[in-house]
Amino acid sequence: MAAMIRLHNTLSGRVEEFVPIESGSVKLYTCGPTVYDFPHIGNWRSYVFEDLLKRLFLYRGFRVLHVMNITDVDDKTIRGANAKGVGLDEYTKPFIEAFARDRDVLAILPADVYPRATAHIEEMVVLIEALLRKGFAYRKDGSIYFAIDKFPAYGRLSKINLEDLRPGSHADADEYAKESVHDFALWKAPKEGEPVWETRIGPGRPGWHIECSAMSSRYLGRTFDIHCGGVDNIFPHHENEIAQSEAATGVTFVNYWVHGHHLVVDGEKMSKSKGNFYTLTDILEKGYDPLDVRYLLVATHYRKMLNFTFEALDQARTARRRIGNFLGELRAAAQDGPSDPAVVRMVDEARAGFVTGLEDDLNISEALAAVFTLIKSAYPLLTRSEMTKADGSLISEFVAEADKVLGVRPSPVVSASGKINATSELSGAVTVIEAEILAKIEARQKARAGRDFKRADEIRDELLEAGIVLEDTKDGVRWKRTGPPKS
Ligand SMILES: [Zn+2]
Repeated sequence: MAAMIRLHNTLSGRVEEFVPIESGSVKLYTCGPTVYDFPHIGNWRSYVFEDLLKRLFLYRGFRVLHVMNITDVDDKTIRGANAKGVGLDEYTKPFIEAFARDRDVLAILPADVYPRATAHIEEMVVLIEALLRKGFAYRKDGSIYFAIDKFPAYGRLSKINLEDLRPGSHADADEYAKESVHDFALWKAPKEGEPVWETRIGPGRPGWHIECSAMSSRYLGRTFDIHCGGVDNIFPHHENEIAQSEAATGVTFVNYWVHGHHLVVDGEKMSKSKGNFYTLTDILEKGYDPLDVRYLLVATHYRKMLNFTFEALDQARTARRRIGNFLGELRAAAQDGPSDPAVVRMVDEARAGFVTGLEDDLNISEALAAVFTLIKSAYPLLTRSEMTKADGSLISEFVAEADKVLGVRPSPVVSASGKINATSELSGAVTVIEAEILAKIEARQKARAGRDFKRADEIRDELLEAGIVLEDTKDGVRWKRTGPPKS
């Protein structure tokens, strides 16, 4: 069936059919990390939802050109570098590395380009020159500001009320509240303790908003298909991006604005002072698998508030384990013979439900329900030993196909020879933590093969201590998590 993807566009406030600029291709820009700290799980929620969207396009046969910026100069990075007494580069480097590491651990497909703001000052200068030339920008005390009252479409994205706007009132901060809408800084005058670029528009450094306008168009063109971010980016960041880009080019900047909702922890806004602020590392240190975290982030619709609790994370782990165990059971299907037409129909229905759900503005509940309905209907065949090898592989192929979009890689099963055999079934690589577990299982199998039962038992106990239970079955060793490790 042909792809017909519908997405909620913040600009229109409606779910719309996605029509690409160029048939079969998607030009996608997602606001990337400001590398002044480690991303918290709220940030990861946005990146995971964007990954789900991108994987859906790829699965449905689109080419995707994905650009994600790295904000390595702005108010926050400068403040952090100064507090530490180091240069910007030195300050941001570990955060850029941590971002890439955690992205891989969460199985987020990397973007095609990760432009860094500090490497695109020239593009920003060109854009600001155009805005000055066309009268949308003005200079004041060495800085350059965007004049909001010159751009009548301002507020279209965020539906902001401009009644109280005082022309010429301006501020220098990158971030501010809706209540204090004002002309914003495109270029900031040199200041003690801040990096300075000597440019044609004068010395100084860029404001945050101009960075995304300049870098997106540098790689995707003046008009591109989709721009994503969290809902907190809508104002002022994305509103300002539209103003800068459209005022400078005179053409539409972005066709679809797609925003992911907030994540709260235990029903409250995350904050360091409340002690409910988590980075990915904080959660993994409690013994969770990163892909259980991914499952949790993926499983709530992107336009709904996600309430993060450890109970919900435990449920995500159980759900993911259920798929993994099911795949393990399928491997046990040993009967010869052709596929049962009923099974073929089950798989076709599951696929249709999965695709229809996701194409409907990423309706993940419907998509996951299709997978679990299939599991439920297939179990009786397994328990009655009525499933043929052909049936089994038909079903596991579909689950692997679905996982190309979900990216949650259900837990593998290890065969009696100690060889990992179910992992490759679901997209190849294993996570760091799974790899450690599998290495231990393999070491235990070797010890047993060499009749070193003492060593084998030791390894089993070590794993148990880490919350991993081994089960020796006729098809090999299966492992399960019982919960977070005792610390
Ligand atoms: Zn941005």
